[in-house]
Amino acid sequence: MNISVISFDGDMTLWDFRKVMRHSLKQTLTELQRQVPTQRALELTIDEMIWLRDQYANEVKGKIWNLLEIRQGAFEQTLEYVGYPDKKLAAHLNAIYRKHRFEDIELYPDVIPTFDVLAQHFKLGLLSNGNTYPERCGLEDYFAFVIFSQDVQVEKPDPQIFEITVQQAGCEFSQLLHVGDSLENDVTGANNVGAHTVWLNRDGVENTTDAQPDYEVHSLTEIPTILGIDR
Ligand SMILES: [Mg+2]
Repeated sequence: MNISVISFDGDMTLWDFRKVMRHSLKQTLTELQRQVPTQRALELTIDEMIWLRDQYANEVKGKIWNLLEIRQGAFEQTLEYVGYPDKKLAAHLNAIYRKHRFEDIELYPDVIPTFDVLAQHFKLGLLSNGNTYPERCGLEDYFAFVIFSQDVQVEKPDPQIFEITVQQAGCEFSQLLHVGDSLENDVTGANNVGAHTVWLNRDGVENTTDAQPDYEVHSLTEIPTILGIDR
């Protein structure tokens, strides 16, 4: 292997997106229930809010790329769902969501120790379908490039976003190692263009798909060893 660049997925690879998303929705739900006097509002759950958001995201797929705009639309739909349509209130809820979503994000504890080692040997970058920008979690100095699907309007596993990655990184596909938790978006996406892949399997789940990662790790701290780096 002749790897010179490592690209990392963001959500569930560097930070626990699901945890911060649920926590932020809980704060938002509390405010919604304070302001909306319907029975359906009182009975609304976080799982329903997630379901409504995913439904809406599917409806506008390929039309709206900005994730905060999608979230805003999802809150509008949520208020309709509880029988209380109100765009102004949806914007207020979105502001509460956004505050927690971005201020309460935490890195997994293996990120900084691993980056400190890898940054001495490789060019590092971020390749994300999400919207947590590195400066929101103190990672901005580690990355030589950052690519967000909502900015380039193409998302993993589409080969185009990996082409954008090697252009920005200034390398060939064979020199790129991509690390991520999604077998479809990260592993298959990067394999399809001929890049090397690490599947981050934090929970030790079984791979029941056709995706064939070059390496599987349970923690990011295993990556330097794979790449032959002595600590
Ligand atoms: Mg991910």
